Amino acid sequence: MPIKVLDPKVVSRIAAGEVVERPASVVKELVENSLDAGASQISIEVRGGGISLIRVTDNGAGIPPGEVGLAFDRYATSKISSLEDLESILSLGFRGEALPSIAAVAQVDMITCAPGEKVGAYLSLIGGTIVGRGSLGRARGTAVTVRNLFRQVPARLKFLKSMATENGHIANVVSQYALAFPEVKFSLSIDGRVALRTPGSGRLIDSIVEVYGAEVAGYMIEIGGEAKASSPQVAGMVGSPKVNRSGRGQLSFFVNRRWVNSRLLARAVEEAYHGLLMSGKHPVAVINIWLPAQEVDVNIHPTKSEVKFRNEHLVFTTVHRAVRQALVEKMPVPRIEEVAVAYESPSRQVLPLPTQVRPASPAPWAPEVPTSPLLVLRVLGQLDNSYIIAEGPDGLYLIDQHAAHERVLFDNIEHQRLRREIEIQGLLEPMTLEVSPRQGEVLRSHYDDLAEFGFSIEPFGDRTFLVRAVPALVYRKDWVGMLRELLDSLAEGAKSDWVEGIARSIACHGAVRAGQALTDTEMRELVRQLEQSATPRTCPHGRPTMIHLSSGQLKKEFGRT
Ligand code: ADP
Ligand code: MG
Repeated sequence: MPIKVLDPKVVSRIAAGEVVERPASVVKELVENSLDAGASQISIEVRGGGISLIRVTDNGAGIPPGEVGLAFDRYATSKISSLEDLESILSLGFRGEALPSIAAVAQVDMITCAPGEKVGAYLSLIGGTIVGRGSLGRARGTAVTVRNLFRQVPARLKFLKSMATENGHIANVVSQYALAFPEVKFSLSIDGRVALRTPGSGRLIDSIVEVYGAEVAGYMIEIGGEAKASSPQVAGMVGSPKVNRSGRGQLSFFVNRRWVNSRLLARAVEEAYHGLLMSGKHPVAVINIWLPAQEVDVNIHPTKSEVKFRNEHLVFTTVHRAVRQALVEKMPVPRIEEVAVAYESPSRQVLPLPTQVRPASPAPWAPEVPTSPLLVLRVLGQLDNSYIIAEGPDGLYLIDQHAAHERVLFDNIEHQRLRREIEIQGLLEPMTLEVSPRQGEVLRSHYDDLAEFGFSIEPFGDRTFLVRAVPALVYRKDWVGMLRELLDSLAEGAKSDWVEGIARSIACHGAVRAGQALTDTEMRELVRQLEQSATPRTCPHGRPTMIHLSSGQLKKEFGRT
């Protein structure tokens, strides 16, 4: 289709907005254009965190010389033309917004050559104004170079994080598209260093090897198979519970090949792992979902990263079933450590594993189901600066000092919060805290929850907040890091998880670390406090705080019966 400016009626229906938030957004838009142009090779070059230079080169369809200028007009697109087209979008782009938005905040050069043209065309723009155009020899395809991004927009520049962070976002965007399009050869170079290169073999596992490494790839299980004609089609790979991460960053969803964020899908996958992963841990998964374009609305968010399914329930159950089935059928028999991992705190019991993976005999080292919470322990010493060795009523206890301290602090915090006795530490000078838009949204709606725990925070500009006080427990710790982590994790959770999530986070950051030498007195005090807990055997994340070796087991190990 030729590039045309959209009819105002269509424009009024598209979820327009700011698409260029940071360098990675430029990379995302340019890569999407290359993919829409049918490229089989896309190379991305980045310098200076994407501020100095971003260049995306493809071997796709190119743009005919007469249309090159038009591509930079607002709402000019070759991908849709009518209101009806909006109902069934299969291309990644459709709003004709990206190129003009990028050109408005940078210096842009485009060189492009469409099949059948003898020579290619070039166009240069500064701040959105065309400053040069002409023809130039080039192989089929398009190269877009973006220089000095945001130089004229100091406010944006100021908001950007370190170069490493921006590079991280860029690498993530390219990785996601490499996972979504295994048949496309991607190469990403950052400051002259190859950051990612995929073979373009068409096999998802090859992209996974490049993005997550061979070790993770070795644990990936294929999902999908035959699907009912009436349900969405699901395919992809998920990690065995052996590979897990503490954040949700390794869950990738592609709907009709569009990379999307979706809480619904994340929940479907996480629930499929229920009982197989320790709480607080998240799986690795790459999941493609295909469904008729009319069944999904992609026109709800300016960056097109969120979608709305017409039948959410059907999508949820289809994804959940596909993942669960693959895990149960194809998972290798776990070793002892994996069984221990199925231990979760809320219900205080070992969750049943699917029958296929239950080991024949109970694992001797698996933490037992706690029966009587009250323990009386005598400290014998410290192992590896991380574990407390103690003697108890029935044998030996190895206590994880961090997990144990977390439990103690968590109980104290809950106790103090209910009595409104949380210890607060005012800062000598209020500190400004800059957060991402997403973190800002979360923060804005939860001042009160945080205040209950001793954080005094107020707005101070768009994305900046002023912190006046923090819980005493984390005053000398990295509470800024803690807040950011908390905001990220809570952005994805349900409202009801908030209070517990904050308490867990403060406990975790306030607790002694592994590797820290403790004096005898400190160890005794910690163990004494742990003994008082109603749930001494698990930390608030559900991990065991201790391993118990009973006298009977000891005798057995030594061959005495
Ligand atoms: P959209 O992708 O929403 O159509 P863009 O502003 O990103 O809007 O691009 C405008 C138009 O420029 C596209 O519709 C397409 O016709 C053309 N175009 C942009 N990049 C490329 C490319 N790499 N190869 C071929 N055509 C391109
Ligand atoms: Mg586009």
